[in-house]
Amino acid sequence: MTKIPQMGEFTKEDGNEELWYQVFQLGHPVLAGKQKRFSMLPGRTRCKMCYAPFTGIGGWITKRMGLQASSRNPFFCNACDGFLNAFPGGAEVDLAIMFCDLRGSVALSESMTPKQFKELIVFMRETIIPVLWRSEGFVLQFQGDSIIGVWPPGFSGKDYAQKAVDGAFKMSKALETATFNGQTVPVGISLHAGRAYLGTVASVGNDLQEVSAFGYDVNIAARLSDAAEAGEVLISEAAINAAGKQNHAVDLHPFALKGVETPIQAGHLLRP
Ligand SMILES: [Zn+2]
Repeated sequence: MTKIPQMGEFTKEDGNEELWYQVFQLGHPVLAGKQKRFSMLPGRTRCKMCYAPFTGIGGWITKRMGLQASSRNPFFCNACDGFLNAFPGGAEVDLAIMFCDLRGSVALSESMTPKQFKELIVFMRETIIPVLWRSEGFVLQFQGDSIIGVWPPGFSGKDYAQKAVDGAFKMSKALETATFNGQTVPVGISLHAGRAYLGTVASVGNDLQEVSAFGYDVNIAARLSDAAEAGEVLISEAAINAAGKQNHAVDLHPFALKGVETPIQAGHLLRP
């Protein structure tokens, strides 16, 4: 069962609504310029916000520009982390949202040592996240054995939903061919589109900030991922409509999701 993102000891922050609406809904020219430049540099680990690489040749170049992984918040560069710190808050925006969940994680964790299981999770992240970056998505969270990605238009462009569909499909293909100790990693993927409050959350003591999403459509995506079988991309009708193509999935049917009154139309994505 996928946990709805509650962020544990993190609390939601409000404020700077216009700024975050620009970042996530309209597009911020400075951030967009950085993303374009940095995505051309090689690097296995990157800032979640501006895509500045932290490792390899790309990391060497960005370090000379004064950018490195923030010491308090290693998923962001020092500049973007400073931005989160200076402008806490968020805004309600359109987005596509994806949950990637390890299937049968209890049985898998029983069959290996805790260290091997941790390595499996790292392998799963390293397989999925570069595809997410290449499809111009934003890594929202790692949550145990789940990866949550979003494609807001300000970040991913007007065709954000189509990029999300392509990205989710490519992730399932990458997982099909990547093996960990000789076996493929069983991951179910859900993709939904709608609206959510996307904004900063702060840890108790304010020493760490992250970006998280809140709202009904986030919960739909989370619940839908529970129904996605290993190797499957389960896409909602709303995501198909947002992507502007009607023939992505061939087998749309209603899914009764826990805690959701109206069944959600969704189907198995056969091709993007
Ligand atoms: Zn950055």
